[in-house]
Amino acid sequence: MKKMKDLSYHYGLKMRIYPSTQQKQLIKLNSDIARTVYNKLIAIDQELYQLNRVKLPLDVVTNRIDELKKRKNPKNLSNHFKYMDNKLLDRQVISTAKQTYQNAWNMYKKVHTAGIPKFHKKGYVEKYQTSAHYGKKAEMNVFDATGVKFLDMQHIQLPKLGSDTPFVAKKRTTDSQVGVDLNTENFLTSSNGAQIANPRYYRTIKGKLAKAQRKLSRRQLRAKKDGRNLRNAKNYQKQRLVVAKLQARVRRQRNNFLHKVSTALINNHDLVVAENLRGKNMLKNHALAMSISDVGWRTFLQMMEYKANLYGRTFITVDPKNTTQICSDCGFIMGKDGSSKLTLADRKWTCPNCHKHHIRDWNAAKNILAKGLAKIA
Ligand SMILES: [Zn+2]
Repeated sequence: MKKMKDLSYHYGLKMRIYPSTQQKQLIKLNSDIARTVYNKLIAIDQELYQLNRVKLPLDVVTNRIDELKKRKNPKNLSNHFKYMDNKLLDRQVISTAKQTYQNAWNMYKKVHTAGIPKFHKKGYVEKYQTSAHYGKKAEMNVFDATGVKFLDMQHIQLPKLGSDTPFVAKKRTTDSQVGVDLNTENFLTSSNGAQIANPRYYRTIKGKLAKAQRKLSRRQLRAKKDGRNLRNAKNYQKQRLVVAKLQARVRRQRNNFLHKVSTALINNHDLVVAENLRGKNMLKNHALAMSISDVGWRTFLQMMEYKANLYGRTFITVDPKNTTQICSDCGFIMGKDGSSKLTLADRKWTCPNCHKHHIRDWNAAKNILAKGLAKIA
């Protein structure tokens, strides 16, 4: 097998992590220090620039220049600013921040429009860089790195943050099992008869978003007509931001809703069963597909899966075949023996075999749970 060092390039992986509260604090600390280092280096260089302009041979000046030059070394930096000498810091953080600063200068030398490095403001997003190290003998394998490495397909280990699971305690068993039917009239119906309505946020914001998007395309057309580059079309750019912000708001609210629902289900039940969406035949029905992308079922199922994993619960999906059409009491399948199949319009029905009265989605949720139980039995 090829070794890592034999490769002409290394490619990156983008992945989402779910840090615990402690890990979030560590990320913040590291990001704060990375930003501070970057800014200190700018300050040092600015002072050096001013001092170098003093042409008189003054001892005070030459001593200060020597001192500042020494301080730029990452090691001396943390000696001087004691808070940078913190055991909770990733060892790479200070040297990586210095590297970033150097890269900013290199970029300036290549492309002058990039500007000289500027102070980094404290932002909304916490970020810092660290790097994986591969030993000389390391093979071409992401599990082989030190510092940053994958423990398995679901866990990544980062310096100081450790791996993602140990901070999460297993939940107490609840002796409760539930099936959930995802449908379009409400968000979901559970096998114990509870309904969760579709979130309203989308309907309220939808009008606003559509209006903003119309305005955006009008401005795009106008710029095109005048032969202006969109980059320089100020009003277009302003409106683009307005649309992006509205879209971000919808996304945030939707995720918030999905997190709340999935966490509640995982908290309250040992076993949760849902339908897999593959069998749902959604894409054939455009209206249905639209509302599915609105309510975010796919994201919801993903959340259920990783949360179940995290808290030691069981989450499984079953084939949705006939879950709507079967009577959960006697097992009669609608569409057989001269009966007609239920349609989306039939919200309530009575079983022709045992005469039990059903609410469609509730009945479906019961069938889903039964299928799940049969699957793990
Ligand atoms: Zn029946």
